[in-house]
This record gives sequence, C-alpha cells and structure tokens, in this order.
Amino acid sequence: MSDPSAHAADDGDLRWLEAAVDLAAQNVRAGGGPFGAIVVRNGRRVSSGQNRVTRDNDPTAHAEVEAIRAAGRALGTFDLSGTVLYSSCEPCPLCISAALWGRVERVVFAANKHDAAAAGFDDSAFYELLATDRASWSMPRVEERRTADAAEPFLLWARDEGRIRY
Ligand SMILES: [Zn+2]
Repeated sequence: MSDPSAHAADDGDLRWLEAAVDLAAQNVRAGGGPFGAIVVRNGRRVSSGQNRVTRDNDPTAHAEVEAIRAAGRALGTFDLSGTVLYSSCEPCPLCISAALWGRVERVVFAANKHDAAAAGFDDSAFYELLATDRASWSMPRVEERRTADAAEPFLLWARDEGRIRY
C-alpha cells in the first residue's frame, strides 16, 4: 500500500495551494482580507486574486471572484472549462457560484469554512442559510413580484440569431 503522505508530497495541488495561502497572508500584511486564489490551466498559472472587499468597497471582491475575473480577461473568454481554481479557503456560496458560471473544472481549497467562521467570516452561516427555505430568511428578504413584461428579455434573447450562448 502506498503511503498517502508521500503521495501528497508529490501532489501538484499542494504547490498551488501553498501559493494561494501565501497570497492570502500577503494580503493581510497589506491590510486586506485573509484570502487568496489562483486559476491554473494545464499546470500553468492563468491568474491570481486576493480579497479586495475593504480596499475597493466591493462586497463581491472575494479572492476567487477576482481570480476568475482576471482569468477571463487573460484567456479572452468567459468559458473557463479545463481550469482549476485553488483557494486558500473553502469558497463561499458566491465564489462557488462564480466557479459554476465559469465552468471551472475543479475547485481545491486549503482551510475550510469552519476556519473562516472561527475568524469571523460568514461562509458557514451562508451555507446553512442556503439550505433553508428562502421564505424563512430575514435578510435579504427575497420576493417575486412578476411584471407583465417579465419574460420579454428572454423572448428577445431566444429570437436573437446572433446571441452568444453562455
Ligand atoms: Zn467568496
């Protein structure tokens, strides 16, 4: 039987994860949040991201989102199929959704949502909230108020022969 620790030492994932954790630690030293992420394709770094929420006053500027946005720009496509997202910490629901929209092939993380929760971040609480009925949420209250023309944009889209599917 092979030694799992020996296997792990050879694992290319670890090198990228350590680099993502380094980005997170550097960001803290620079006054930012403790999160870093790297997008890799074919064993090469495509892009990286660090948490910019407080610097940019952008609640969506999570490290993974930053890395995914930069990967799209670097590759010249919104389709990130075949890429791996390495994150210093388990992606929150926002970042997992960004990976879904980007068609990221794998997501690998170092610390988990419980580590994040211990440091005061809401990742774990948000995952728990998402598992409950939205009607029971106190914030945000999510309400459907259907308008007469609500489906019109989709009809226009379906009729547009030149549409770029994603
Ligand atoms: Zn996130």
